[in-house]
Amino acid sequence: MSTDYDVVVIGAGPAGYVAAIRCAQLGLSVACVDDWLDAAGHPAPGGTCLNAGCIPSKALLESSELYARMQGEVAAHGLHIEAISLDVPGMMTRKDRIVRDLGSGIAALFRSNGVEWLHGRGQLLPNRQVHITAPDETGQQVTGRHVILATGSAPIELACAPLQGERIVDSTGALNWSTVPARLGVIGAGVVGLELGSVWRRLGAAVTLLEAQDSFLSMADRQIATAALKLFRAQGLDVRTSARVLSTRDDDGTIRVSYQDAEGVHELAVDRLIVAVGRRPCSEGLATAEAGLLLGEGGFVHVDEHCATNLPGVFAIGDLVRGPMLAHKGSEEGIVVAERIAGQRSAVNYEAIPSVIYTHPEIAWVGRTEAELRQAGVDYRSGQFPFAASGRARAMEAAEGMVKVLSDARSDRILGVHILGAQASELIAQAVLAMEFGASSEDMARTVFAHPTLSEALHEATLAVSGRAIHLAVPRRH
Ligand code: NAD
Repeated sequence: MSTDYDVVVIGAGPAGYVAAIRCAQLGLSVACVDDWLDAAGHPAPGGTCLNAGCIPSKALLESSELYARMQGEVAAHGLHIEAISLDVPGMMTRKDRIVRDLGSGIAALFRSNGVEWLHGRGQLLPNRQVHITAPDETGQQVTGRHVILATGSAPIELACAPLQGERIVDSTGALNWSTVPARLGVIGAGVVGLELGSVWRRLGAAVTLLEAQDSFLSMADRQIATAALKLFRAQGLDVRTSARVLSTRDDDGTIRVSYQDAEGVHELAVDRLIVAVGRRPCSEGLATAEAGLLLGEGGFVHVDEHCATNLPGVFAIGDLVRGPMLAHKGSEEGIVVAERIAGQRSAVNYEAIPSVIYTHPEIAWVGRTEAELRQAGVDYRSGQFPFAASGRARAMEAAEGMVKVLSDARSDRILGVHILGAQASELIAQAVLAMEFGASSEDMARTVFAHPTLSEALHEATLAVSGRAIHLAVPRRH
């Protein structure tokens, strides 16, 4: 086996493995180093996203939503199910199979592209050498003409709520329970808290989320976040904002969470607790001191707009660097870095990266919120359309939520699109595409959308920007 490569990638998550494959496509010799082991102790590519994040959570979100719909929504369709029984271990087996199959897929892609997959923990040494410590503690050294750091992120731990077996867990632990807790507490009503809280709520747990911030989903558009909070509370997710956790204690099997809000100190008694207060970059020990890799605030690897670190030939991508911690953002950075190494002039458009929260209904957005536009002093126009006025949404029993389109008041260029509703994760792609092409709301308003589809709500919202949505009641003109 060679020890010299054009590119050595450290990390085989959605940033690293995508970078490695793109490098190979471009004719570069590439090794991808990764230390993730599955429950059986076998090397598992795909990083957090595949093994303990996006994919397993989506598998459980799908299963639990099906269960919830069979219990509630089907009656509205005139269907009556006599008895449904819940098989949580069966759900987990399905989820594990999906993860395993997709992991095998990445391994197959590595083989077919000629990417050398090296198992172990990589550490950057001076002069783009990488030391790899294998699971059996043996060491080896490889060198890259270029090195791409893509070691991702890990859940932030809270000193006041230390993890404890199956009872106080992080996002990974909450994907592996084989029974439904009667009372579930979640610290942090962010993306993970809402998605995993939703899974266990649908399966029958009484779920309380304690969120330190005053505002709910502060990164989302205010109107969308407020509407979503109302829907989530109606579903039984007890979201308590301005709630700062002070301590947790195990009281004979019951976890007592002490927290403070404006009214004083309260106690929440739960059977299990998820800590979902954000993630931190995995940069500790990633490079030796002699290597001289520059880290910034919060331990993020310092990079320029093209993901170049302070070290010549060394790049960093994904959760390890500034920007949203999103798999698709990391993958895109991986592709762009690979292409720049190969001499191309690619760049990531950070203005058009979609965000999605896989709740029911889903929340998705791209571009800027109204608050951000106001703060930047941008003059904008807004068009909105409710799914309640969409024929397809009605037929789907999915009339909740809305689409909001924001465009520049002068140029009409679309600046942001915000969706709360069924399949928002899919609908948002149309808005991303429009923004990538620099579309105006008029461009979308003049586009023909198939009927009946949920996408028509996006179309109508673009028409609403200029006050001409068809299926929207307007005050009568006299
Ligand atoms: P997050 O930043 O989305 O949410 C964490 C929440 O915890 C915040 O609202 C924060 O105010 C709150 N918080 C922090 N400390 C607290 C405390 N002591 N008490 C109470 N609340 C506290 O982080 P996350 O949900 O853990 O997710 C981690 C990362 O992974 C995020 O960057 C997220 O975007 C990403 N992620 C994305 C998806 C997706 O794209 N659908 C899914 C899961 C995770």
